[in-house]
This record gives sequence, C-alpha cells and structure tokens, in this order.
Amino acid sequence: MACAEFSLHVPSLEELAEVLQKGLKENFAAAQVSVVDCPDLTKEPFAFPVKGICGKTRIAEVGGVPYLMPLVNRTKVYDLNEISRKIKLPGAFILGAGAGPFQTLGFNSEFMPIVQTESEHSHPVNGSYFARVNPADGGCLLEKYSQRGHDFGCALLANLFASEGQPGKVIEVQVKRRTGQLNFVTCMRQTLEKHYGNKPVGMGGTFIVQKGKVKAHIMPAEFSSCPLTSDEAVNHWLHFYEMTAPLLCLPVFVSKDPGLDLRLEHTHFFSHHGEGGHYHYDTTPDLVEYLGYFSPAQLLYRIDQPKETHLFGRD
Ligand SMILES: [Zn+2]
Repeated sequence: MACAEFSLHVPSLEELAEVLQKGLKENFAAAQVSVVDCPDLTKEPFAFPVKGICGKTRIAEVGGVPYLMPLVNRTKVYDLNEISRKIKLPGAFILGAGAGPFQTLGFNSEFMPIVQTESEHSHPVNGSYFARVNPADGGCLLEKYSQRGHDFGCALLANLFASEGQPGKVIEVQVKRRTGQLNFVTCMRQTLEKHYGNKPVGMGGTFIVQKGKVKAHIMPAEFSSCPLTSDEAVNHWLHFYEMTAPLLCLPVFVSKDPGLDLRLEHTHFFSHHGEGGHYHYDTTPDLVEYLGYFSPAQLLYRIDQPKETHLFGRD
C-alpha cells in the first residue's frame, strides 16, 4: 500500500491562536482563541480512551472518494492498527472521519474513529461510533462500534488525526453566533490558508456544537448500483438531516493541498442522544455555539492515494 510522507508547516500555538482569532472574528459575533492545557478527554462528554491529543501529531488521509464513486471498490478496506504502523506511530490515538467498515458490518455507514491502536505496551481500544440510515424509517441510527465488532477496520476513505494521546498544550477555540457564510471548520481552514499561503498547516482535535442545529448527512446502507458522476447525483443518493446540539465532532483539516489529492476538511460527529453523521454547517447562526480543542499536525501521510481521481462528492 503506497504511503507518502510530507512535513507540514508547524507554527507556534501562540501564533496560531492569534491568526485564528482574527479570522474567526470575521465570521462569528464572538470568538475567543487561547492556548490552554488540553482538558481530560477521558471524562464526559468525550469519554475517549486517552487524555489528550498531543505528542508526535500526524494527519493521515487514507484512500479517497474515488473508491466510493462512481461505483464502490470493495477491495479498499483498511485496518487502523496497520495505519498506525504506516505513520510510524504504533499505539497512536486516532480520531477523524471516514466510511464505516462494511467488510465487518455488512452495510455502508458513516464512521467516527476514536481508537487507541495497538503497541508493544498496550492493548488497542476501539471507542469508535458509526451512524447508518435506519432501514425502517430513514432516520439516524448511531451505535458504538465495539457492540458490533472487535476489529479495527475502516474502509474506502478516511481523514485521520493521530497523536500519542498525551495531555499537553492545545488551542482552545470558543465562538458564538455565526455572522458569516463559512462553517466553523472552513472558517478556520481558510484563515490558515490566507495567512500561510503555500505552506500547508494541518490541524485536528475535537469540538462540541454546544447550542443550535447542524445540517448533516449519512450515506445509505447500500452502495449505489448506478454510477454517481456528479455532485447532484451524490446529493440525491445521500440522506440529509438536521441534528441537534450537543454534538461531539472529530475535525481534521489541512489549509492547502501540497499536491496529494487531499480532501482538505472532513468532520464527523457523534452524540449521547443517538444522532451522528457528517458535518456540513450549522443551520442556526443566531444561536450556534462551538467549543473546540485543536492541535497542529507535524507530518502528513497520504496512504493508498487513488490513481484515477475526480472532484465530486467532496463536500
Ligand atoms: Zn464524511
């Protein structure tokens, strides 16, 4: 499996906080960005298997949308323990957004990886969630993956943020009331792109939609049998929802593609009230509130990059 490594630009946390604060203020009525100690992520509402998102930070993009459409490529299945070795960080804590492991579940789904991978010193822990379309009524069904499988699979495409899972300094971002057109993640990403230009900066972590609602999608349980060849066809195939705070999101983004055919941002979320999926944007700008913790990635890995590519289905 091909794997390319790229060194990202890593500004200091203080500089990043200053840059992000300026950009977010253009899109939100209130924005406060600071450098803080990462809150203990083993505690509620996160309940992750590790305390933080610090130490040897990496972003990995695995596969891509071309393996999902026009038609699915069922050979594209992956294992997060193997990915942790590919990115030279066995034992990594991995979070992010991808397609659920259809190879074990038997159907297609949205995947929210939250995994401490295996190492010489520790057993792997799979705290992932997946969301699927309820076959009975078209609603959302969110489940913990560990209730279904004991493997560490994922499939087709994944945008992952990996670290040693250590406590440490992170960037805290708190914004309220959206006044601009950009969603929370796009605003942060474009702010970095504007400031750092051709030097790609990558970030990942977690944020909570504390108030308001978001537009989300979930892929159907069955892959499309007719080829999907445009955004219009993809949107007709997907199921769209409005989901309600509090929502726990797993963002991964890179400010600029250094030529690796990246999906520049991808955010999935879960909740403790049965909702989860792929984040598009909030639908309640007047009352939305976000609180997040982010860490810049040092390295970027492009794993099993599709040779034939296209630009639809990436929103
Ligand atoms: Zn997605």
